Amino acid sequence: MGDIDIEISEVGPRDGLQSISSIMATADKKRWITALAAAGLREIEVGSFVPAKVLPQLADTAEIVQFARTIPGLTVAVLVPNLRGAQGAVAAGAHKLTIPLSVSETHSLKNLRRTHDQVLEEVRGIRALLNGLPAEQRPSFEGSLSTCFGCTLEGAVAEDAVLRLAEALMEAGCDEVGLSDTTGYGNPVQVRRMIRRIWENLGRDALHGIHLHNTRGQGLANVLAAIEEGITTVDASMGGIGGCPFAPGASGNIVTEDLVFLLEAMGYRTGVDFEKLMGAREILAAALPEEPLYGFLPDAGLPKGFRRAGIAQVEFA
Ligand code: ZN
Repeated sequence: MGDIDIEISEVGPRDGLQSISSIMATADKKRWITALAAAGLREIEVGSFVPAKVLPQLADTAEIVQFARTIPGLTVAVLVPNLRGAQGAVAAGAHKLTIPLSVSETHSLKNLRRTHDQVLEEVRGIRALLNGLPAEQRPSFEGSLSTCFGCTLEGAVAEDAVLRLAEALMEAGCDEVGLSDTTGYGNPVQVRRMIRRIWENLGRDALHGIHLHNTRGQGLANVLAAIEEGITTVDASMGGIGGCPFAPGASGNIVTEDLVFLLEAMGYRTGVDFEKLMGAREILAAALPEEPLYGFLPDAGLPKGFRRAGIAQVEFA
C-alpha cells in the first residue's frame, strides 16, 4: 500500500444499496463511484452478480463494473454468490471477487439457499475458472466468513466453526478469507481473538480485511481492535446506508466518513480527502432523497484546526 496505512474498502454501492428499497439510477451510481474514487478511496465494491429478480437494486452491476474499470488506480470489487456470478464478474472485468459463506448454516440456507458444502463446491468451481485465465487478468478471490461473530437466527457462533470454515475456504481455492460481522453482534475482545486464531492457524497472508456493522454501536470500537491487531483493510459504507430495520437509528455498515476521521485523527494514513468525501456524500444524498444518511462527522464537522488527509501525523498539542 506504500503511501497509506489502512485501506478503506467502500461497500456502499453494494452492501448499502442492496439493503434499501430505493433503486439508484445507473447514471447516479456512476457519478457517486467517480466521486468516491476521486476522494481517495482505492477499492470500491460496486455491486453483486445475483439475478436481477433477487436484487433489482444491483441489476446494472455488469455495466457498473465496466464503467468503474475505467477509473485509474481503482480496485473494482464485486460480490459473487456462486460460479455463475463469478463468470459474469470475470466477463465484466472485476478485479476482486468475494463469495460469502455464512458460518451459521441456517443463515447460509436462508441467504444463499446453499449448505456449506454447496458453497465450497462453488468456490472450487470459481478457482478452476480463475486458474483458466491468464495470470495478469486473474481477479483476486476472497471468501467472506459472514455471521462469524454471531447470527440473528442461530445466536452464538462457535469460533472453532469459523476456523474450520476459514480453512475449508482456503483449501477450496480462495486467496484469502475475510471476517464479516453481518449482524453487528461482535465486540472488540471477540474481534481480537478471532483474528489471532485465524493467523495462528492459516498464516498472516490468509486474512487482511474485516467487514463490520454498527447495528449495536460497536462498529468503531471493533475497527480499533482489528487494526491494533494488524488488520489493514476495513470495509465501510458512505452514510452507513443500508441501516438495519431491526435497530432503528442504527446504521448498517460502519460509516466511511466517521471511519476516515477516526483513522486520520490517530495518524493512520487513509489517502482520503474529507472535502471530496463530503462532495461524494452530497451526490449520494441527492440520488437517494428518501434514505436516511448516518454519521457523526458529517453533522459535527472536523475539529477546529484539524489537518487533512495526506499528512502523516496529526497533532492535538
Ligand atoms: Zn455489510
